[in-house]
Amino acid sequence: MTVQRAADLLAGARRGLALTGAGVSAESGIPTFRGEGGLWTQYDPVKVSSIETFLADPAAYWRVSKDRGRIALAARPNPGHEALAALEARGCLVALVTQNTDGLHQDAGSRRVLELHGSGRFVECLTCGRREPRSEVQARLETEMPPRCTGCGGAVLKPTVVLFGEPMPPDATQEAFQLASEADVMLVVGTSLVVYPAADVPLLALRSGARMIVVNAEPTPFDRFAEVVVHGRSGEVLPEIVSLIGG
Ligand code: NAD
Repeated sequence: MTVQRAADLLAGARRGLALTGAGVSAESGIPTFRGEGGLWTQYDPVKVSSIETFLADPAAYWRVSKDRGRIALAARPNPGHEALAALEARGCLVALVTQNTDGLHQDAGSRRVLELHGSGRFVECLTCGRREPRSEVQARLETEMPPRCTGCGGAVLKPTVVLFGEPMPPDATQEAFQLASEADVMLVVGTSLVVYPAADVPLLALRSGARMIVVNAEPTPFDRFAEVVVHGRSGEVLPEIVSLIGG
C-alpha cells in the first residue's frame, strides 16, 4: 500500500525534508492558486501579485489582498499541518520548507520552518522599513486604501510576502538548498511544482540521492521522479502516515 510505503520511508529518514505549498492550507479554507477552486480561475495571480503591479497601483493590490488577508488571518491549522509538525517531532523531518505565507505551519507546532516566499503576518514600509503586524493593518483597510506607514509619515505599506519579480529571502533560501542537498527523504505536499526556484528544492534533493514522496490532490510534473505518489488530501493522507509510523 502506497501510504504504508510513505510511512516506511519517513520512519527510516535521517535527514528528511518537506516542501509544502498552498494545497496544505486548502483544508483550512485558504484558496490555492492552481487546482480545483484555485484563485487562478478568478484572476491571474502573477499579474495581481507582481511587484510591478503593486508599485504601479498599490490600492488595487490591497483591494484584492484585503479579502485574502482576512481569510488567512482567521484560518487555523488543519490535520495536515499538525501531521507535519508531528513528523518533525518524531525526527522524520529535520525541517520544513514552505511556499506558503500564512504562518499555519508555525501555529501547528513546526519548529524549523523556512519560508521561501516570506510571511503574510507582517507588513513593512517601503521607505523606512518599519514592520508591523498585518492583523493591525487589516483593521485599517476599511478606511485607508492603500494603508500607509504611521512611522515615517505616509509611505505605502507592503505585506512581507515575496511578490512575483522580487528576490526570495537569501537566508531561508540558502538554508533550504543546503538541507535539500543533504536530504535522504524528500516529502513534497500540496504544491503544483510550477513555481521556481521553489521547485528546485526537490530537484536538488533528487540529484543528491534523496528518495521522494509526493502527496497532492492532483498529478504533478514530478510524480514520475517519486518513489511514492499519493493522490489525496493532505489533511487525510498525512495523519494516516503519522499513525502508521506511531510513537
Ligand atoms: P498552487 O496553488 O500552484 O498548487 C496547489 C496544489 O495543491 C495543486 O496542485 C492542488 O491540486 C493541490 N491541492 C489542493 N488542495 C489540496 C489538498 N487538500 N491536499 C493536497 N493537495 C491539494 O500552490 P503552490 O505550488 O504553493 O504555488 C502557489 C504560490 O502562491 C506559492 O508561491 C505561494 O507562495 C502562493 N500561495 C500561498 C498560499 C498560502 O500561503 N496558503 C495560498 C495561495 C498561494
